[in-house]
Amino acid sequence: MNQPSQYPHLLEPLDLGFTRLRNRVLMGSMHTGLEDRKKDFPRLAEYFRQRAEGEVGLIVTGGFAPNIRGWLTPFGGTLMSSLQTPRHRLLTNAVHAEGGHICMQILHSGRYGYHPLQVAPSAIRSPISKFTPKGLSAGGVEKQIKAYVRSASLARDAGYDGVEVMGSEGYLINEFIAPRVNKRDDAWGGSVEKRMRFAVEIVRRVREAVGPDFIIIYRLSMLDLVPDGSNWEEVVLQAKAVENAGATIINTGIGWHEARIPTIATMVPRAAFVDVTAKLKPEINLPLIAVNRINTPGVAEEIIATGKADMVSMARPLLADAHFVQKARAGQAAMINTCIACNQACLDHVFVGKPVSCLVNPRACEETTIQSTAAAVADNIVVVGAGPAGMACALESAKRGHKVTLFDSSDRLGGQFNLAAKIPGKDEFLETIRYFDNALQAAGVSQQLNMRVNAGDLAGFDQIVLATGVVPRTPPIEGIEHPKVLSYLEVITNPEAVGNSVAIIGAGGIGFDVAELLLANTTPDAESQKQHFFSEWGIDPEFSARGGVKNIKPANVQVRRQLWLLQRKQSKPGKGLGKTTGWVHRISLRKQKVKMLAGVEYLKIDDQGLHIRKGEAVEILPVDHVIICAGQLPQRELEEKLVAADKLFYRIGGAEKAGELDAKRAIREGTLLGLRI
Ligand code: FAD
Ligand code: NAP
Ligand code: SF4
Repeated sequence: MNQPSQYPHLLEPLDLGFTRLRNRVLMGSMHTGLEDRKKDFPRLAEYFRQRAEGEVGLIVTGGFAPNIRGWLTPFGGTLMSSLQTPRHRLLTNAVHAEGGHICMQILHSGRYGYHPLQVAPSAIRSPISKFTPKGLSAGGVEKQIKAYVRSASLARDAGYDGVEVMGSEGYLINEFIAPRVNKRDDAWGGSVEKRMRFAVEIVRRVREAVGPDFIIIYRLSMLDLVPDGSNWEEVVLQAKAVENAGATIINTGIGWHEARIPTIATMVPRAAFVDVTAKLKPEINLPLIAVNRINTPGVAEEIIATGKADMVSMARPLLADAHFVQKARAGQAAMINTCIACNQACLDHVFVGKPVSCLVNPRACEETTIQSTAAAVADNIVVVGAGPAGMACALESAKRGHKVTLFDSSDRLGGQFNLAAKIPGKDEFLETIRYFDNALQAAGVSQQLNMRVNAGDLAGFDQIVLATGVVPRTPPIEGIEHPKVLSYLEVITNPEAVGNSVAIIGAGGIGFDVAELLLANTTPDAESQKQHFFSEWGIDPEFSARGGVKNIKPANVQVRRQLWLLQRKQSKPGKGLGKTTGWVHRISLRKQKVKMLAGVEYLKIDDQGLHIRKGEAVEILPVDHVIICAGQLPQRELEEKLVAADKLFYRIGGAEKAGELDAKRAIREGTLLGLRI
């Protein structure tokens, strides 16, 4: 007998009248970098095919511009000519062959374009592009609307089930709507009706062109998170107007790209913004989609079951696991590889022009190149070290038919991810350990914990993999043995032992994390976490203020410790952190009055504190503790013994190279080695 589903609301089909979606999961639009060149479309098709095979209800592509004015970057992906429809056919055929539905997102960048051809309602440069847009003439406005209509018609010809009209995140349509950057006094600016006329005309004319049996999703910016964005009355007016103009579904947009408030990074609580969508629900009759930081089937089910939205959008969680929905349906949610919201291999790649992938799933967008084949001979393999590198290697090699034993000296899997998970806002990292634990068991890997491996323990194995990670670097500073010196390992495992004034040596990823840990306020339950997040970042909890932020002051933070964060380099502290998250950490520490000093020379540590020189000035920081976060060195202890015993071995992750190590590299190296040994 079939078990009742754990997620009945999430998995319930959605009837749109002319078509039926198989469940309530929308794969949200994500720019992958594969949209821009014709030669990448077969790769993009396989990426979408696997998500459709994984039973996603409705897929939305990354944004395609309707004309070159709307390019995100020069020669970015467009759909503006019938010559381009055959390549899009590859995508639609791949998804339909798996029983899925797919819409193409039409995205006109407006003033967010990174090229000199960009246009906008008014000639106001955005803080995230070095180009000033040309203000559109009335004729220019008409041309842009016609381009949307042509693109939607071509999308229909290419076999798409619909289009998503991108009206949020500060792109062109959103720019027309918000008084912040629409300074026109003609028929397209001024009153709210005139500002939203561009959006309404696009939806109305697209509907006229594509007929009634084609999905039009309108992505509506419900919370701009910039001053002089829309207020709530305007959001409701806009929603009603696009409903009347012929939209089928309304998707939620949260935050302009230029907003200085985090909206999807790991420190944003799960489903933090779902109540914005819920607030619109009674106002309109169309299905509504909730977005942002929804990454487990449980969270998604609750949103639908409580009537806050009709569908949920998940973008990054489907990069992390193509078979998310299928696993949820099959009662295997514990086998889902969960997105940890790190942005390290997805959004951070977009911003430096690298193809998107995923930290926890290096196969994402590389489905045609990273493939698994059964091992020719089943070897007896040992992997020493169950951090991210070792877990990934053990899993992939076992899945290929090898007999794999995974050792760790600790009592648990995960290596340094266990430390990362103790940092406020990083508890998602535990999901990765949970995933690997279950997947390793399912693949038959023998987990041997509490076992510090010596060279002698490795006799009898055909192949040896060292994934033994790193040891913290101890910098040669006078007084480094002083009792007030602590390593980051000691601090993360016992933050309570740290005094009220602290100097952190090393302003890399771990230095910043340790600072966050020492300054964190504890907020126990999910609801208070959300409220704390809103007040910390100055978001109106009622979502009524203009842009959700106007005249809302971020709450005064209680400064828990006096903290110095130091580095020797002259560059800005935190410069090496992720593009999309580094600024959040810097703002957050500045609010806590952390003194970030660059160009520091460490002279000595004694009872008085930490003696430093900065420029010509010598200063004593009178601290209770000095915490060393000065990078790491590879763990070489076991390796040296193996070399002495003339044993061959592979090295991955920190054991291979400690410099510039992160979990993205560790998991990728582990995966690739597991696929080839
Ligand atoms: P490790 O995770 O160090 O694992 C090595 C394992 O080998 C350990 O479990 C150890 O017990 C075991 N071992 C060693 N010697 C032996 C032996 N002789 N016998 C048995 N077992 C042995 N990275 C990111 O990408 N993003 C982040 O946001 C991030 N945040 C971090 C926050 C903190 C506080 C810390 C400490 C790290 C963070 N990292 C982050 C770094 C990331 O955790 C590491 O890059 C990653 O864990 C390295 O993986 P690894 O498998 O090479 O080594
Ligand atoms: P890191 O980012 O390389 O930073 C090391 C810090 O130590 C630097 O600030 C460096 O600055 C300083 N340092 C290096 N040698 C020193 C010496 N001999 N004496 C004094 N200071 C020295 O390394 P990490 O902070 O240890 O992080 C380890 C890895 O985990 C990183 O690669 C990082 O990517 C990853 N991680 C990522 C995140 C994230 O949010 N993405 C968070 C945590 C960790 P100076 O040389 O200028 O002094
Ligand atoms: Fe999620 Fe990080 Fe993967 Fe991006 S890289 S999809 S944020 S786990």
